[in-house]
Amino acid sequence: MGAEQSGVRAYAGAMGRVRLGILGGGQLGRMLALAAHELGVQTRCWDQREDAVAGHVGGLHVDDFERPARLDAFLRGVDVVTTEWENVPVALLEEIERRGVPVRPGSLALRVAQDRVLEKNLARSLGIPTPAFVAARTLGELEGAVREVGLPCVVKTRRFGYDGKGQVVVRKAEEVAACWGALGATAGGLIAEGFVPFARELSIIAARGVDGQTRFYPLVCNEHAGGILRVSTSPAEGVSEGVRARAEEYAGGVLGALEYVGVLAIELFEVGGELVFNEIAPRVHNSGHWTIDASATSQFENHVRAVLGLPLGDAGMVAPGVHAGMVNLIGSMPDARQVLRIAGAKLHDYAKEARAGRKLGHVNVLAGSRGELMERIGQVRGLLR
Ligand code: AMP
Repeated sequence: MGAEQSGVRAYAGAMGRVRLGILGGGQLGRMLALAAHELGVQTRCWDQREDAVAGHVGGLHVDDFERPARLDAFLRGVDVVTTEWENVPVALLEEIERRGVPVRPGSLALRVAQDRVLEKNLARSLGIPTPAFVAARTLGELEGAVREVGLPCVVKTRRFGYDGKGQVVVRKAEEVAACWGALGATAGGLIAEGFVPFARELSIIAARGVDGQTRFYPLVCNEHAGGILRVSTSPAEGVSEGVRARAEEYAGGVLGALEYVGVLAIELFEVGGELVFNEIAPRVHNSGHWTIDASATSQFENHVRAVLGLPLGDAGMVAPGVHAGMVNLIGSMPDARQVLRIAGAKLHDYAKEARAGRKLGHVNVLAGSRGELMERIGQVRGLLR
């Protein structure tokens, strides 16, 4: 194994402490930094805002991503670079790679995950079922795309969509022009996708090390409202061995094709007992936050381990029979004392300024049965406005 393969030469070695650079400094960077510091790894998060909450935990580097003024200074302070924000410009990742600093996952993974057409093409090439989809760059093309995928359909911007932003459900042909009016001006074009009448939304969180070893967390069931993830539970109820194995096969295929290093999430629709690909998140994921308290190794620790070239940890539950959940705290925080009174509840507060629609924290919930889990999650939800 060469120097690049073996990862970070200096890990706990003669050259001193490893320093992890993280592009993005939101709550994901903050939780990555918390996990890294437990391993004695220093972190430096690069964010465009001075009040980025990862800065409370480790070093913070403030600079523009598109036109960085202090790239050299950032790179002098880190040994390996990872990302917590999937919209970091690919050109920046490529520049860092050119300068010989390992970027994990690499620019290819981000390039694919930033474009809904590229990621669905990848899924299709790996034999993973996707909704029907057609790309469109003009109103005429969108009309053709909608005809091809059929109604109802979901029209999305190819790039920069998140939390349900940048997408419109089209139910009638007459709505296509209004949809073009709402989304058509977006650089990068649109994608029309067949509407999937899913029974539920699942995700799989997976990790791949520098040496290609993989780990898969139990499948997660996700409940969204207004395009934003509200509640995740794991293991997802009533998942057959076959469905679980298929999800792992799909995730393993994506990880391998992208030569991926780190944690990745794949969002899936379950429909008629089958799994349909929705999208990839090339990073630790909101639907994996419960792993902090419920898994033998959290998604954050496994991501840090992976990008530093360390052995991955067990992705199983912390104990047999544990059921885990996560409730997002969005827009305002509940009274901490009331949360902490709930049995099995663990509060994670990102110390962010409250703003409508903003993810401010989450509550992880552990229980000994599915019934007990849902009851405790109900208690947490009862505290939310
Ligand atoms: P996305 O940003 O692609 O994850 O979409 C946000 C949410 O919109 C998903 O979590 C689904 O609830 C819904 N959605 C997205 N694409 C589709 C689709 N093709 N069919 C049905 N629902 C969809």
